[in-house]
Amino acid sequence: MTKQFRTLDDVDVNGKRVLLRVDLNVPMENGRVSDTTRLERIAPTILELSAKGAKVILLAHFGRPKGRDPKESLKPVAAALSQVIRKEVAFADDCIGEAAEKAIAAMKNGDILCLENTRFHKEEEKNDPAFVASLARLGDIWVNDAFSAAHRAHASTEGLGHKLPACAGRTMQAELDALNKALEAPTKPVIAIIGGAKVSTKIDLLENLVSKVDALVIGGGMANTFLHAQGAGIGKSLAEKDLAATALRIVEKAAAANCAIILPVDAVVAFQFAANSPSHAYGLDAIPPDGMILDVGPQSVARIRAAIDDAATLVWNGPLGAFEMTPFDRGTVLAARHAAERTRAKKLVSVAGGGDTVAALNQAAVAGDFTYVSTAGGAFLEWMEGKPLPGVEVLRIR
Ligand code: AMP
Repeated sequence: MTKQFRTLDDVDVNGKRVLLRVDLNVPMENGRVSDTTRLERIAPTILELSAKGAKVILLAHFGRPKGRDPKESLKPVAAALSQVIRKEVAFADDCIGEAAEKAIAAMKNGDILCLENTRFHKEEEKNDPAFVASLARLGDIWVNDAFSAAHRAHASTEGLGHKLPACAGRTMQAELDALNKALEAPTKPVIAIIGGAKVSTKIDLLENLVSKVDALVIGGGMANTFLHAQGAGIGKSLAEKDLAATALRIVEKAAAANCAIILPVDAVVAFQFAANSPSHAYGLDAIPPDGMILDVGPQSVARIRAAIDDAATLVWNGPLGAFEMTPFDRGTVLAARHAAERTRAKKLVSVAGGGDTVAALNQAAVAGDFTYVSTAGGAFLEWMEGKPLPGVEVLRIR
């Protein structure tokens, strides 16, 4: 495959001021970082740049501040990052202007500096040209390692790419490679598993997928909308009955594109939306009118496993049931374990993403066995919808 994006292999960073856009939007509890996954992911790029003699200047947003707000400072995140990478990370109280310029002037080759939250300036989200210029003055090269923010055309995620030589960091590169293998240039046949609560949040995604994949498994609450549209009784299950026509349109589009739609053939039904509430598997012709479908049934799981066996590539977003409550995580866990097994056996390339999906795969203890698990939420979904991501497009070799 020809190379589509510039990477760190294409630039000489020794002695250069590298503006490195990263994802520091980590969860915090009582002023401390409670999950360092995102920091661990960006560590390789930071350490490589530092080892190559770059002055590594980190740019990132944190939360959704309206103007400067000490509660949304990146200072404690920079301290946590320093522990993760076991190197000093200096901090500047602003991402532009004198504070940033002084701190950068004091840097030696290999040093690492974190600039304050870019969103303390409202111009960041507006991709304001003057703000972009103020940022661009601080560096010689822009490296984007924040795939999770690439669906936004903000100053630090996109604007800088037009002002400075630009390339993808190693985390972004790994993400792009994985996504490319999953949908753009996959080994066929390709199967997608889409679950989650609602059809309404995933219409664009479903419409894009049916034209790209060979089989589409629909599970979770959103499957209920499809089953209802096709005339099945679904009792008191979560469903968007007003979207029946949309569901039927997606089914038709799939048929026209030769994409097999795999809907549940049975369901696990409970009478209360609560963990461990008594439940039972029913065929679709026998869903009790006062029951709620909370998971796919055993026959559906068998079909999904068989469909995974027929595929060479899998893309997964969304749980197949109300996985936060036992035993309604069973369908998701069994399907995930099977995908993990096929991946370990080198029969399957498996890519999954989205917040709940990562949580579900962790619950099944198989996230490490998938080929790639994206921690990006919105950006991963927009990519699945087939939308160009501004922060990625700007890195493309033309
Ligand atoms: P999403 O954010 O769209 O991926 O949806 C994830 C949510 O869908 C999770 O909180 C699941 O509990 C929920 N969900 C999945 N299947 C069902 C179902 N059959 N009934 C109710 N909620 C469900």
